[in-house]
Amino acid sequence: MTTPNAPVMMDQARRAAEKLRNSTLAERLAELDSLQDRIRDRQEALVERIMAETGKTRTDALVSEIMGSLDYLHWLHGAARKVLADQKVSTPIALMGKSSHIWHEPWGVVLVITPWNYPFHIALTALAPAFAAGNAVILKPSEHTPLAGVFESLFDGLPLLSAAVQIAQGDGETAAALIAERPDRICFTGSAPTGRRILAQAAPLLIPVDLELGGKDAMLVFDDVNVERTVAGALWGALTNAGQSCTSVERLYVQRSIHDTFVSALRASLDTLVVNEGDAGDADIGAMTTDFQCDIVAAQLDDARQKGAEVHGGGRVPETRLLRPALVTGVTADMRLMQEETFGPVIVVEAFDDEAQAIRLANGAPFGLSASVWSKDLARARRVARALRVGAVSINNVMLTEGNPALPFGGVGESGSGRVKGAEGLLGMTRSKAVLIDKQSGKLEANWYPYTRTKYRLFGDLVNGLFGRGPGALLRFARAGLKLESVAQKPREGL
Ligand code: NAD
Repeated sequence: MTTPNAPVMMDQARRAAEKLRNSTLAERLAELDSLQDRIRDRQEALVERIMAETGKTRTDALVSEIMGSLDYLHWLHGAARKVLADQKVSTPIALMGKSSHIWHEPWGVVLVITPWNYPFHIALTALAPAFAAGNAVILKPSEHTPLAGVFESLFDGLPLLSAAVQIAQGDGETAAALIAERPDRICFTGSAPTGRRILAQAAPLLIPVDLELGGKDAMLVFDDVNVERTVAGALWGALTNAGQSCTSVERLYVQRSIHDTFVSALRASLDTLVVNEGDAGDADIGAMTTDFQCDIVAAQLDDARQKGAEVHGGGRVPETRLLRPALVTGVTADMRLMQEETFGPVIVVEAFDDEAQAIRLANGAPFGLSASVWSKDLARARRVARALRVGAVSINNVMLTEGNPALPFGGVGESGSGRVKGAEGLLGMTRSKAVLIDKQSGKLEANWYPYTRTKYRLFGDLVNGLFGRGPGALLRFARAGLKLESVAQKPREGL
């Protein structure tokens, strides 16, 4: 693989951004529509390729990567016209006769830097809205899952997309070289330490950065739930994509009165899960994507064992990157498992006594990506959801906010800032331009020069009329306004 030449790529992106200014939203959406068809038509080949590079199960590759991406494109097609449309906003009475507007304009060149856990979905759901909004894009995929040639071949023959989106293969150095070329915006998804490095590099260049970082998501289970369904939700939420999701359930808090029953049911179900790679759609947990992530998971489990936790299951299948899922109880706050993102097939369960303690435990992590609250009592579930310091909450389901492309996605605290997806994410690919339109006439504004004592007195009356209360206020405002209007048209002499 040749190292991309950052200045050349940025130069090309700048020219593409200039050309995109002559395209219409309808033309760009038409190409995204073709892209949607191509992804649907090539889904099996894409699934194979994603499985080969990530180790995912066939079902995870199809549902999270392909179906999730198609769903996003479908939403984008329906929403973009409305979200990106020029907007007319109200104009205050003091500016009578003028009109006020917001135009949503592209940044220019957006640099998208992505991780290895959802290499297709995360890249697509960043580049598609950036392109729809009229930006040129440079995508820097993870060096661990480059998907080389995949996007290029999907864009082939689509003139706007293939000119506007370039793929820069490489590692962190490549990304840093691209940042040095001053893209207009950076959309980063990855770990908190890398996020800090990117912010530090972008700060002196004053480049705005979207940070979509890691998580340590909590699942709160109250004692009135249907245990069978909630256990099934917990298993999937913690183990889908072999736990390599930023919104994986990493901390499962269960109300003490059902804790033991819940843990027994979890353990029994865990033991039935099929761990396999290269499956035909019938494996539950696939392989880890990288060796270093296997090592991180093993080290965290070892640390927990040494500090007294009970670990059920776990372990690596020899000669593979398959990790058997582990269920951990008896944890304490000093364990790495409770402090760091685990990003592997591990379920950690702790008991809580009441609502207040559940909220305290959930909010105890520096991360705040998403969470879930499980209870038949929806008033309680909503109350708890409001108290959680996170960017998203599912009630009686898990990781489901991500299932709706109309909802924004992003975190708080060490999970980052900024939002992708939804109208907010699409608008994030634009910068707003405030526009105020007046008529061309000979009329002078009252607040323009010359300043005079008469004008000053009338402005005082205007303020009292405009912001005064009581029945006569509007009348006072109108009288002062009319007088100001007339004196404003006269020269200083004679006032
Ligand atoms: P990472 O931070 O190691 O790498 C992410 C990307 O940043 C890669 O493309 C990498 O090459 C690049 N990079 C590395 N050093 C860089 C530098 N100095 N400057 C610029 N770019 C640099 O993350 P990862 O291991 O690929 O992904 C896993 C992490 O991503 C986890 O923490 C996970 O929670 C997080 N994640 C977050 C979200 C979200 O939306 N919040 C989604 C998926 C993954």
